[in-house]
Amino acid sequence: MHEMSIAQSLIRIIEQEMVRNRVDRLVRVKISYGRISAIVPEALQTAFQALTHNTHLEGAVLETSEIPLRAKCRSCFREFSGGDDLFVMTCSHCGAEFGHEIISGKEMFVEELEVE
Ligand SMILES: [Zn+2]
Repeated sequence: MHEMSIAQSLIRIIEQEMVRNRVDRLVRVKISYGRISAIVPEALQTAFQALTHNTHLEGAVLETSEIPLRAKCRSCFREFSGGDDLFVMTCSHCGAEFGHEIISGKEMFVEELEVE
């Protein structure tokens, strides 16, 4: 379950931010993840709850929001939103199916931290 290691790095980032801001209690953390980043939000929730149990982060709410897949067409060079498949994406402008440049949908980052 690779969500466990993702949750671990996430907690490391949160801890660093909290030390830097001299705060002690985490209320809420919001992360964004790409549609094709292979993250299962439910699994990430479970991992996050398990890893923060009995720590000072316990009780913090983890919110996740999905970033849609966007690509730039290799034929007409216009941007379009795709579905789930990285390999066959049909350009909504010209219908080209292969070789597009992925602009977003693979990333994961912390968007917001609410602390006390
Ligand atoms: Zn196109």
